[in-house]
Amino acid sequence: MEIDLNHRLKGVNYIESPNQGGPFAPGAPDAIIIHFTATASAESAIYTLCDDKRENKVSAHLVVARDGAVTQLLPFDIIGWHAGVSKWGTRSGFNKYALGIEVDNAGQLCERDGRYESWFGQLYPPDEVMRGVHRNQSEASYWHRYPSEQLAVVEAICAALIQRYGIQYILGHEEIAPSRKVDPGPAFPLDSMRTRLCGRPLA
Ligand SMILES: [Zn+2]
Repeated sequence: MEIDLNHRLKGVNYIESPNQGGPFAPGAPDAIIIHFTATASAESAIYTLCDDKRENKVSAHLVVARDGAVTQLLPFDIIGWHAGVSKWGTRSGFNKYALGIEVDNAGQLCERDGRYESWFGQLYPPDEVMRGVHRNQSEASYWHRYPSEQLAVVEAICAALIQRYGIQYILGHEEIAPSRKVDPGPAFPLDSMRTRLCGRPLA
């Protein structure tokens, strides 16, 4: 993964979102926030992240589809609207510090007669599902798995962003907004990925 002088990943699909907050301050971004889309497809996530008619306008820098295809929606020097009300350590309002990566995944699933249903009513087969305890919850539940090719692309993107922007922190949305958010959830290997990328489990 290479990043060009216009703060875009080379060779990926680019659709600029109108939902943007102006340039980052000097020294930012220094964090990456990992999200799941909780949508049926990367396309539906991209539609929402580019929709400027919604009451709650949202965006992210990147969407990674399940096959690893990447769509960039904002250049990396422009603030996106993906974190919402958020706090971690002494910081709050992470949009002004962080790049947002949306990973195509249905999220938390409900088991019914051996099938697994998303909040938007789509069913997933058992081989796409894992059972695990969310870091913010006490009971095990079902989660949509992330394909290995998709995870490999997310990790390669993070490595490129670390190198180019000196990123210090890779955080899940669930860690900066634990009372509101469960993404990317226990199916995403957040701790092992940031240990490989940052040399430590949590910044
Ligand atoms: Zn999120």
